[in-house]
Amino acid sequence: MPYDVVVAGLGAMGSAAAYQLATAGVSVLGLDPYQPPHTRGSTHGDTRITRVAVGEGPEYVPLVRRSHEIWRELEDRTGAEILSQCGGLVMAPPQASFAMHGSGSFLERTVAAAEAFDIEHERLGTAELAARFPQFALAGDEQGCYEPGAGFVRPESAVEAQLRLARERGATLAFGERVVGYDDHGTHVTVRTTNQTVEASALVVTTGPWVSELVPELASVVRILRQVLFWFDLRDPSSYPGLRDSPVYIWSPGSDLSEVIYGFPMVDGPDGGAKVAREQYPGQPLRHRPAAVHAERHRGLSLLRPRVQALRGHRRVPGPARDPGPQRHRSLPVRARRRLRPLESVVTAHEAMDRSLTLNA
Ligand SMILES: Cc1cc2nc3c(=O)[nH]c(=O)nc-3n(C[C@H](O)[C@H](O)[C@H](O)COP(=O)(O)OP(=O)(O)OC[C@H]3O[C@@H](n4cnc5c(N)ncnc54)[C@H](O)[C@@H]3O)c2cc1C
Repeated sequence: MPYDVVVAGLGAMGSAAAYQLATAGVSVLGLDPYQPPHTRGSTHGDTRITRVAVGEGPEYVPLVRRSHEIWRELEDRTGAEILSQCGGLVMAPPQASFAMHGSGSFLERTVAAAEAFDIEHERLGTAELAARFPQFALAGDEQGCYEPGAGFVRPESAVEAQLRLARERGATLAFGERVVGYDDHGTHVTVRTTNQTVEASALVVTTGPWVSELVPELASVVRILRQVLFWFDLRDPSSYPGLRDSPVYIWSPGSDLSEVIYGFPMVDGPDGGAKVAREQYPGQPLRHRPAAVHAERHRGLSLLRPRVQALRGHRRVPGPARDPGPQRHRSLPVRARRRLRPLESVVTAHEAMDRSLTLNA
């Protein structure tokens, strides 16, 4: 058999699989219809939050710990900048159930994971939070958990580095080639692509939001959601140092899950924009229909605006410029990160469209 393993899809998951398999001496064929890292899937947008004290569940802690080791190995081997441990904050009011990414209070589960795994962290009361992190204007009586070892990963660099090393270690990577189907024979698998039919001992399907196309039985538990990211320019340049040196954050101003936002330090200089986002949940449209996109932008902006104004050092923006109206939103390109001028608009936002999936199970 020409290959031990075919990896279908070379985003975050597939590039890692191809790299680890090639490192283990396994012969790998990696396939992707595009050229990763690209902007069509889930793995782009400059930064991704990483925390060791993961409120999503203690079972993830060893995986995140190992991932941090791997990011550092990759940096040593390629010279790429992948992991920045700038610290991370989870903030929520004490009474908030804030059941993000699972059940129970996300803040409490974060603290529990930190305690259970002896992860360096600090619990912060409202006054301490406000004093230590004046760049954030708290909505009320939020409390926090600060983890100094948290931070962000550069997803495009991580994919690039893993694919480069996978190739150096013998993997065959074919871009512009889509897996269209497979037959599982028990002992081996026949994989059909847009260019060829190959036999392998195993197929790894890491096609992210496209997973149900190849594995239809997953269609009932996978839902694809559009995720929109915003990069805000600074109205007051003097707020830049505070935002540059900021931790990453996940912030629930109340108990309503749909109001949770997350953000990053300004990693690309004073003109690079402050990246802030919220999560889209089931029930919101995926299709890029103008009316749906427009409505979604408005929802996102009305939620982000008060917090982002806070990020701007509490400066209020004069009336008319605060809401430039739908035309301006509509005129925004929506594919990748964009600059929008002039700065007098509060919607100095760049948007990136992403596809993401959630498991309903
Ligand atoms: C906006 C946004 C913000 C996020 N923030 C965070 C965060 O802060 N922290 C965090 O930990 N996680 C975060 N995530 C989640 C994380 O980014 C994803 O879990 C991860 O990128 C998923 O990678 P993937 O490889 O599964 O999917 P993808 O990156 O989408 O890769 C799938 C690949 O499969 C390819 N493909 C599709 N069909 C086929 C086919 N038939 N044959 C071959 N190849 C195919 C695609 O071209 C693509 O390259 C975020 C996700 C989004 C969208």
